[in-house]
Formats: sequence, structure tokens, C-alpha cells
Amino acid sequence: MDMAEKTKKGRIFSGIRPTGRLHLGNYFGALENWVNLQEDYECIFGIVDWHALTTDYEDPSHVQERVRELAIDFLSAGIDPEKSVMMVQSHVKQHAELHLLLSMVTPLGWVERVPTYKEQLRQLEGREIATYGFLGYPVLQAADIVIYKANAVPVGEDQLAHVELTREIVRRFNYLYGDTFPEPQALLHKVRLLPGIDGRKMSKSYGNEIHLGATEEELQERVRMMVTDPQRVRRHDPGDPDVCTVYAFYKIFGGELQEEIALDCRKARIGCVACKQRLAESLAQKMAPVRERRAALEADPALITDVLANGAQRARAIAERTMEQVRRAVGLS
Ligand code: SF4
Repeated sequence: MDMAEKTKKGRIFSGIRPTGRLHLGNYFGALENWVNLQEDYECIFGIVDWHALTTDYEDPSHVQERVRELAIDFLSAGIDPEKSVMMVQSHVKQHAELHLLLSMVTPLGWVERVPTYKEQLRQLEGREIATYGFLGYPVLQAADIVIYKANAVPVGEDQLAHVELTREIVRRFNYLYGDTFPEPQALLHKVRLLPGIDGRKMSKSYGNEIHLGATEEELQERVRMMVTDPQRVRRHDPGDPDVCTVYAFYKIFGGELQEEIALDCRKARIGCVACKQRLAESLAQKMAPVRERRAALEADPALITDVLANGAQRARAIAERTMEQVRRAVGLS
């Protein structure tokens, strides 16, 4: 750890599965927060490709390409490889070794009661995911975090159970083999919820997402398709912005326009077509830096390879130090 790192509040690990292009919901749900955390914490951000295999093992043909795609999404969102370590999970084999050792000490009941396990089984019904690997993914997650001795994990409320499980596993490991890992704290952040264009939660499984790297034309098209106040049938009907998806976007992207739009909508001074047009312009302007960084990255594929190779090297150095200690603690050195 160098001097600059020592002045930071601690170390963070967080990861995203490479399962397809990121959307604005992911950006406001996680990435925007990560970008800010880089200033105060020593951050390690993972592209967790083994986790992608827990659900996509039958057809892994897209994983490689999605890893690169996600790397572009991370960097274009503002993850800075000078400040943070950006790595691919399978490039750091120590994650797998630690996962194996942690799985030895984790009682089956602990993983079976993770709320997202049963929920995902229900959601992905019809796909054969009742596998050993899928059941054990929270243990792999625990390994991802503690291999770096991270003391904080940025999460939304829905992932608190995973951090709690990690803490339980750490306590058990430390109890059995002596103090080895710090117990990571959940760094709860307020998620800015952005609906999809149909008003439901933004999710690629609903097909209602807006991609982080959307072009101006794509943005216009997606905004044009957004659902508005269903009671506002004619142009001169007053609208209710509080039930309108377009307005939910104004609350995040509209800046000063927000109040003016709400008033104009309620008094029917603006039509939905014009209202959407103005939103598309605002959105395009706000996301311009992300788009520009993305275009530069796509023009320089070697840069992504370099960033990931460098990230893997830095991550491996930390992970190997931890594993040397772990192997000694377990009596395997
Ligand atoms: S004017 Fe704008 S805020 Fe009002 S209902 Fe139409 S799209 Fe929604």
C-alpha cells in the first residue's frame, strides 16, 4: 500500500457480472456511486465472469465479449484505472482457491437461506440453475471481497443479506483458524431509482432499458417510446407528472427544467411530444461525457487489454499475499 492509499478510509471491493450491456439503471444504482467512492477509498472493481457462468453455463460463448463490453462501460462511466484497480475475476485464480476453502467452513443452511437464492430460482424458472455452483455463489462473493481484505462493500438494500453472510463466514473462519480477515461493513448507498421506459423497474429482462452507451438517436427513440400519464388523452388535458415515466427522468436529468415542466404539464401548457423532445436533449447532454469516453475506448481496443492486464497484476499481488496467510492459517502451506 503506498502513501496515497494509506490516507484513504479503507479498501472496497465490488463487482458486476458480465451478462450484457449496462443500462442507466445500473449506472444510477451502482456505477455513479463507485465513481465517487474512488476519491475516498482504495477501490477494486471486478468484472465477475465466474459469477456469470452460474446462470449462463449452458452457453458461455458470449462471456468473453461481454467482459470487454463491461470494461468499456466501467471506464466510460468514469472508473479511473489510475485511481482504482479494475480486474476480471477469472484472471485472479486466488478467488477460486479461497472460495474452495471458505466453502469448507460454510454450513449449507447459511447459503440456502440467502433470500435472493429462492427468488432467482423462481425468476429463472425453466432454466436448469439448481446447481452446486449457483447455490454457492454467495460464498464465491464472500471470497471476492475478503481476498482483498476489503473493509467495506458498497451495496443497495437488496444486497445486505450477502454482506451479512460474508461477515458470518469471516467470523467462522477467524474462529477456526485465527484472525485472518477483517469483517467487511456494508456501505449502504441510496439508490437513485430510475424506471424503465414502460414505468416498471429498469431491467434488461423486461426489455425496457436505456443503454449507458446509447447514441443520441437511440436516446431519442427510447424516450419517444416512454409511457406518460395514461389519463392525459388529449393535448389540452392537464397531466399529472407524478405518475409519468418521462417526468421520473426529469427528476434526475432535468436540472432547473424540473419545476417548469411539472407546472406546464399540470396546466397543459406543454404537449407530451415536446416534453419528450426536451428530455431527450437534456439526457443526451448529460450523458455526452460517457458517450465521448466510450467512443475513444472503442477506437483503441489495446487500451482495454492493457487496463485489464494491469488490473489483474495489481489484484493478484494483493490476493496472493492474502492466500499465503490463509494457507498458513489452515495448515496447508
Ligand atoms: S407533459 Fe411531460 S410530464 Fe406531463 S404527462 Fe406528458 S410527458 Fe409526462
